[in-house]
Amino acid sequence: MDQLTPKQTEELRSLLQFNKNKLEQQLLDAESATGVVTLDQSSVGRVSRMDAMQQQSMAVSTRTKAEASLRKILKALKRMDLEDFGYCGQCDEPIPFNRLKVQPEASHCLKCQDQQESL
Ligand SMILES: [Zn+2]
Repeated sequence: MDQLTPKQTEELRSLLQFNKNKLEQQLLDAESATGVVTLDQSSVGRVSRMDAMQQQSMAVSTRTKAEASLRKILKALKRMDLEDFGYCGQCDEPIPFNRLKVQPEASHCLKCQDQQESL
């Protein structure tokens, strides 16, 4: 299978950077959302406090997901620096560019990914 050209790698790098910035912004937003409950605790009634708590738990799950994605992206960028990017972590085959364009942080080829998910 084909290895990535330097141009393709650069394209994926900017994609990763873009996603990284987006997630970091999301995390900042989630952080301010989780602050709501403690800030307004004395002034809000019971019902709106429930609302606020619901919002908070949603914000927490958004944050958890964003953090997980961000970790993957940071790892992918690190692999790029080590020139180990674009290879499957399991079978060591090059990961097709088309797959990386959709999911630049992917660390496994489709075949191995499927295997992992079916375990
Ligand atoms: Zn593989």
